[in-house]
Amino acid sequence: MIDAHVHLEKGEYCIEWINEFISYAVSRNIDEIYFLEHTHIFKECQSLYDEMSQYNAYQNQWYKKKLKMSRPLKDYTDFIERMKNNHFPVKVKFGLEVCYSPGHETDIERLKKAYPFDFLVGSIHFIDGWAFSHIKQPWKKEDYDLKVLYRRYYKLMYALADSTLFSGLAHPNSLQCFGAYPIEDYIEEYQKIADVLKKNNMYIEESSGLAINYGDRELGMNKRMLEAMKNKKVKIVTASDAHIPQDVGKLIPEMYDYLMQEKAYAHFNDNENIDEFH
Ligand SMILES: [Zn+2]
Ligand SMILES: [Zn+2]
Repeated sequence: MIDAHVHLEKGEYCIEWINEFISYAVSRNIDEIYFLEHTHIFKECQSLYDEMSQYNAYQNQWYKKKLKMSRPLKDYTDFIERMKNNHFPVKVKFGLEVCYSPGHETDIERLKKAYPFDFLVGSIHFIDGWAFSHIKQPWKKEDYDLKVLYRRYYKLMYALADSTLFSGLAHPNSLQCFGAYPIEDYIEEYQKIADVLKKNNMYIEESSGLAINYGDRELGMNKRMLEAMKNKKVKIVTASDAHIPQDVGKLIPEMYDYLMQEKAYAHFNDNENIDEFH
């Protein structure tokens, strides 16, 4: 099984820290980990936060603090280089989780050229500057027009996938982090997203991150979104969004079983030989 979304940022870039993640992976039968870091922890990525940091006072303070503590990207890429000489009992990849907002394509392109990362996963963390998934900035679904909000959210997801900048799309369900589930079917939107993911050879995450980090009652994609991904044969990878070693692989066996049961397995990237199942 694969865990395609694991953050190292809470510790030092050293072998002892990464080994803690690896031992949890081994104990949970995870045989491949994608390590990634948020772009907001790196100095070089500041321009990606122009709109979000101007959105309101809370977000402005939040990003100011992040920027103060930010580190050079080179700290991470040097660490990756060191780790490449190491033998781990599981397969490891190193990449970035990039906060995508339209208009920042050239910034992201530059980032991509800065280092040959194994992958870049794109995330919609902001809707027109609004950071909707911040625990310290919760919101009530009653205060929003969810029809409009979800339509915009899925439009941004489409733009992310259409940008051809990314290897994958992260946690496509994160707008429901405070319980605002999609209120329409969005079949057309899901099909369009599935089409563009397939066209650009991208994967989509089946993520337990919301369940782990926000206590969401749903695990992974909703049924209609999963159905659209299955129909278009989009590659699906399981991901925990772990920020601590103890969360690596958490709820992944449950999602794995569900994907098998839903017969999404044909497009489920458990290994690189997935095409054999087609
Ligand atoms: Zn994220
Ligand atoms: Zn993440």
